[in-house]
Amino acid sequence: MLECVIVGGGIHGTYLVQRLLEETSLDRDRIAVVDPHERLLESFRRKAAACDMEELRSTFVHHVGTEPFGLESFAESRGRENELRPTPGYPRRPSLALFLDYADYVIDGNDLESLHQRSSVRRIRTASKTAEGEGEEALVLETDEGELRARTCVLAIGHGGRYRIPDWADGVPGVNHVWSDDFDPERRVGETVIVGGGISAGQLATCLAERGPGRTGTDPATSHESVTMLARHPFERAVTEADPRWINWGHVETNLHCHPPGSRARYETVQSVRNDSTMPPYLHDRLEDLVETDDLAVRRSAVDSARCVDSGSSANASEKRVRLLLEDGGCLSADRVVLATGFEPVYEHPFVKRLAADLDLERGYRGMPVLEDESLAWRRTDGTTSPLFVSGALAAGTVGALAGNIAGARRSADRITDAIETGALEAAECPP
Ligand SMILES: Cc1cc2nc3c(=O)[nH]c(=O)nc-3n(C[C@H](O)[C@H](O)[C@H](O)COP(=O)(O)OP(=O)(O)OC[C@H]3O[C@@H](n4cnc5c(N)ncnc54)[C@H](O)[C@@H]3O)c2cc1C
Repeated sequence: MLECVIVGGGIHGTYLVQRLLEETSLDRDRIAVVDPHERLLESFRRKAAACDMEELRSTFVHHVGTEPFGLESFAESRGRENELRPTPGYPRRPSLALFLDYADYVIDGNDLESLHQRSSVRRIRTASKTAEGEGEEALVLETDEGELRARTCVLAIGHGGRYRIPDWADGVPGVNHVWSDDFDPERRVGETVIVGGGISAGQLATCLAERGPGRTGTDPATSHESVTMLARHPFERAVTEADPRWINWGHVETNLHCHPPGSRARYETVQSVRNDSTMPPYLHDRLEDLVETDDLAVRRSAVDSARCVDSGSSANASEKRVRLLLEDGGCLSADRVVLATGFEPVYEHPFVKRLAADLDLERGYRGMPVLEDESLAWRRTDGTTSPLFVSGALAAGTVGALAGNIAGARRSADRITDAIETGALEAAECPP
């Protein structure tokens, strides 16, 4: 039986597995990371590539290594300090290339891929002591490649890969979500409409607009690439996803743990302090420049309905366009519409709901997992503690506003690592 299986090989899973290796008595061969992608962090790499992200929003101390200044030392030793971008009133931020090169250095240096099992976990159940003939209760993880048994398990599934598709967009050809596998930012089309007003929408819009006809040297007479951002509200600026004080566990205890676990008050506290749908000032400034030079258009409205129509060009009779009817009574047509509308709530993810039902786990307001504040172990409905721990966006009701961010990985690992080590030592002291 394995000691710990981490479900998800993203930023949280990749960070936590190192903490387990470095700070617990667990042997390598008793730990596994299960993730369907071909390599660790692939989900993050793909999303960053899809919106042509050039630099991180967070600072150089937030990365996947366990040494806080590891990324900075990596940059200095390779003459890449210029990739630590200055940010007025805020510490420097790494370029995406530097962040990922350092992540590869950490993954290779610790041979983390050898712990990665390429598969998806479908269900988790408890194997009864008698059925297993073992003294200890085991978790049985049903994966695409068969079953795994473990004493403990950590859910590090991020947002679970469900992207928010508004009702009006459902099934309309030519409308894609920016994170969907079939969206290709490199594909050139005449007119693109990007729906959304947050950082992903802004990032994608700047990158498409900056390579528009006037800027790339293509002949404006033959190239008509144009980009329009369609956003409900005026853009809001915020340097970070939430006040950096949310990195501090004392701040989390004072402002979140004063409310009962799983409560509506915790949910609303997190919602109210997160700077969702905002973009950092350096990106907003770039957008404004593009608007001023007519390389980017911005339209304020919401979409009422969408449909696919013929292009109307006799030369391209087979080509289709998307026509959007807007709530302000206007309309917009484009060759493609890209949704930068974020994720569906992870608390309501079918996998999460199934887990909770199978393992009798307690869920609170809007399905929020009820976790132990000290260990991030998910509590059962009978009040006992399960051997299932949670890291990432799913743990926001306990870890706070930055739970799903890179900084949250560290805060979660501080607690989960200790709890898993304590449990492993107890199990070793009390053999069946
Ligand atoms: C473009 C972009 C830029 C960002 N920039 C920043 C930034 O600058 N700073 C910052 O702090 N945050 C940033 N974020 C937020 C960022 O997503 C998180 O910090 C980080 O990716 C979350 O890591 P995670 O491991 O929780 O989730 P993910 O990176 O999404 O990884 C979760 C993994 O779990 C796997 N998984 C899910 N379900 C299962 C299952 N049932 N079985 C097996 N595996 C499963 C998925 O396939 C995925 O590989 C950014 C996000 C995006 C999209």
